[in-house]
Amino acid sequence: MLLLLASWGQTVPVVAIEHVTVVDVHAATIHADQTVLVRGQRIEAVSRAAAPEGARHINGRGKYLIPGLWDMHVHLGMIGPDSFQLYLANGIVGLREMECSLPEFERLKQYRAELASGKTVGPQLVATAEAIEGRGPAKPAPFGVENAADAQAAVDRQREIGADFVTIGSDVPRPAYLGLAEECRRLNLPFSGHVPRDLTPAEVSDAGQRSIEHLDGLLLACSSAESRLRDLMKHGQAVPIQTIVDTFDPNRAAQLAAHFRKHGTWLCPTLTEQRFPAEAHNPDLYLDPRLKYVPSGYRRKWEVSAEASRNVEPARKLFELDLRLTGLMWRAGVRILAGTDTPWPYCIPGFALHDELKLLVRAGLSPAAALEAATIAPEEFLGRTAPLGIAPGAPANLVLLDGNPLADIDNTDRISAVVIQGHVLARRDLGRLWDRAAAAAKGQ
Ligand SMILES: [Zn+2]
Repeated sequence: MLLLLASWGQTVPVVAIEHVTVVDVHAATIHADQTVLVRGQRIEAVSRAAAPEGARHINGRGKYLIPGLWDMHVHLGMIGPDSFQLYLANGIVGLREMECSLPEFERLKQYRAELASGKTVGPQLVATAEAIEGRGPAKPAPFGVENAADAQAAVDRQREIGADFVTIGSDVPRPAYLGLAEECRRLNLPFSGHVPRDLTPAEVSDAGQRSIEHLDGLLLACSSAESRLRDLMKHGQAVPIQTIVDTFDPNRAAQLAAHFRKHGTWLCPTLTEQRFPAEAHNPDLYLDPRLKYVPSGYRRKWEVSAEASRNVEPARKLFELDLRLTGLMWRAGVRILAGTDTPWPYCIPGFALHDELKLLVRAGLSPAAALEAATIAPEEFLGRTAPLGIAPGAPANLVLLDGNPLADIDNTDRISAVVIQGHVLARRDLGRLWDRAAAAAKGQ
């Protein structure tokens, strides 16, 4: 990033994007022929007025402007800093890091310090370090926990190292989970993640968990055979996927949705990650030209995962049900976040978010709602207040598109320019980012 910035200099000029169609993702409307004026790191005005003298002009005629995108579920440490240019080139201005090692977390903190000092330009970051899990050989203390006291110590440690929130793993024992929730509330530290096997989605919602990732535990809770299936799990037996599919009860889903709404629990379905087991044998996955941006070591790992995938047919049924459940939750008023779980197999940094938007639309969200889940909803989730979106006073993080994303969600990756913290990445700059990302992937 530093090389790219060297040519930009220190001062950000006033930028006027003229004659552009502004997309209001919340109201699901467009406003034609607007001038969006950016001064420093903020949007100064959105109007039909002419641009002031000396501004850098960007011709927005025939183009559509959306707020910058967030990927709300990533694991950056695994794929390295080269992925930042891929995120940027894809219009992604913010990331939520869900789990990384302590040394990786230190690197992310350093990146954040460079962002804050203006030494570099890149996506903003909210981050945690290791997820909190049940204690075992692979997960020792402090982040492997057995009881409430351990869990409180783990939360305190996260606070000490500067984590923005805490991630919950899938096998945190019940007493530890409840202790963790209490300590997080005391410290005012948000917690998000899985639904541990010992608890139900309604219970984690009651405990104040801010978001549930991957729709974890939801299909079990929506099954009319829930208690029988929980008994199977208690005895260490596998839960038959066909039973989950056959016993899905929309009324139970509606009750759960009401619960989430009441407690302000958000869902980050990570449909891109969930698609992989269902599509593992689909050759389109391996022929994807975007794979040239993925380091070869990672590509090989993904191929091995795909070859090892069994039970593609049941996984497909499960995925279809996950899509249906996502649509149902959204229609019932549950807040949705767009996240991908990159670099889970075939979740390519940056591109995966555009895949997620398409999948959210396939799940039944309107294109505007899908875009909202990747733009202003993440800002709201993170507690940021108005103005959000494309409005005077909002941060100058914008993506200029060649087509209307409300008419066709496929238009979100037809990117003409990206504005990040007031800096403009025009098509030529984006081309350089693409080239460098491809070259970096080749070298690994
Ligand atoms: Zn994850």
